[in-house]
Amino acid sequence: MTFSFRFDPISLPEEAKALQEEVRAFLREEAARGGFTPGKGGFSREFGRKVGARGWLGMTWPKKYGGGERSQLERYVVTEEMLAWGAPTRSFSTGDRQSGPMLLRYGQEEIKEKILPRIVRGELCFCIGLSEPNSGSDVFAASTRAKKTAGGWLVNGRKIWTSNAHEADYMIALLRTSPPTPENRRHGLSQFLVEMRAPGMTIRPIINLTGSHEFNEVVFDDVFLPDSHLVGDLDMAWKQATDELAFERSGPDRWIETFPCFVEFVRQRGAEPSERVAEGIGRAVAELMTLRRMSLSVAGMLQAGKSPIAEAALVKDLGTNFEQALPDKIRLLAPPLSDEDPDANDARFEEALRHATLIAPKLTIQGGTREVLRGIIARGLGLR
Ligand SMILES: Cc1cc2nc3c(=O)[nH]c(=O)nc-3n(C[C@H](O)[C@H](O)[C@H](O)COP(=O)(O)OP(=O)(O)OC[C@H]3O[C@@H](n4cnc5c(N)ncnc54)[C@H](O)[C@@H]3O)c2cc1C
Repeated sequence: MTFSFRFDPISLPEEAKALQEEVRAFLREEAARGGFTPGKGGFSREFGRKVGARGWLGMTWPKKYGGGERSQLERYVVTEEMLAWGAPTRSFSTGDRQSGPMLLRYGQEEIKEKILPRIVRGELCFCIGLSEPNSGSDVFAASTRAKKTAGGWLVNGRKIWTSNAHEADYMIALLRTSPPTPENRRHGLSQFLVEMRAPGMTIRPIINLTGSHEFNEVVFDDVFLPDSHLVGDLDMAWKQATDELAFERSGPDRWIETFPCFVEFVRQRGAEPSERVAEGIGRAVAELMTLRRMSLSVAGMLQAGKSPIAEAALVKDLGTNFEQALPDKIRLLAPPLSDEDPDANDARFEEALRHATLIAPKLTIQGGTREVLRGIIARGLGLR
């Protein structure tokens, strides 16, 4: 069966435009009073609590769990502004974007009542336990095992590349509860809510290319999980994890990570850049706007209750290619200028470009590698 992609054009409704202004004003104010350094990103629970107090976390969730019952498009503009400013979203972004929606859809009632309002208030940090040393792209080969015991489960094994595990309060982990069946090699995995400070958990840092400690290895040694921490149906996580990846892949998070260096570049070149630079900026903006419209369209589909898995994969593939190539494009447009011209060698721009260059290689790996996404797109087009 063939499939054609659909990216219906979406215009932001008035309430989303008004919200965009509100978020910009908040970020301007926070940056001005030193609450964060624009472009740096990072982790700040204090900032997370402020964002929560504004009602900007769990925005689309039911009021019953503290949510705002607002639209996906309103949520979209909040996320987009935060990322475009390079605000410190790491303490809350995973819970708001993917773990919270997972719990909302599949979690047990007592867990939803306990956890979701705390995500909304910006109090909880989540991490994602999918990858293992021998199962990265092939996520359904996970072997970290949860074995039934009285009142719950005992977990043994290892997860790797777990972003924010050292800061997180909870993980949503993909664990093996039964062997795969001959009919379905994806069968036998279940998702669980894991308390990161439970006895038996060890978190070891992995330092990345920029010298930062963002991801980790997490070892489970007889970690006990109560029955209430099972998320969704036993052995059936393959279906749920696929949904989770659609949340992960669809947002502005996937094309905006190197954008702060573009902002610095435009600022550095001033109101009257050379014709060559103006042309380069114009090309990048045209690409950016196209991606934004596609990504907004995916947000519109999520709003309509659809599951746009192939479209989200396409946006992620195009988006990460764009953000990965951006630092090099900028470097070609603005080769380092002479030391005799200190204004041109603007330190803020140089720092933003340095940071963007160092993070660029990871962009086409995190959240699904380029090759794997292209496999999903090909399947969506009926080519495999
Ligand atoms: C910055 C960063 C943050 C991350 N955060 C997390 C996190 O919080 N939680 C988490 O669980 N994981 C996280 N990951 C892990 C990430 O999801 C995996 O690295 C990714 O899925 C690839 O797995 P792998 O590293 O084992 O590579 P492999 O799966 O071994 O892939 C190696 C190469 O083979 C290619 N390949 C693999 N399978 C196929 C195929 N079927 N067809 C064609 N080519 C293929 C891949 O594209 C890749 O180029 C993070 C990774 C990064 C870089």
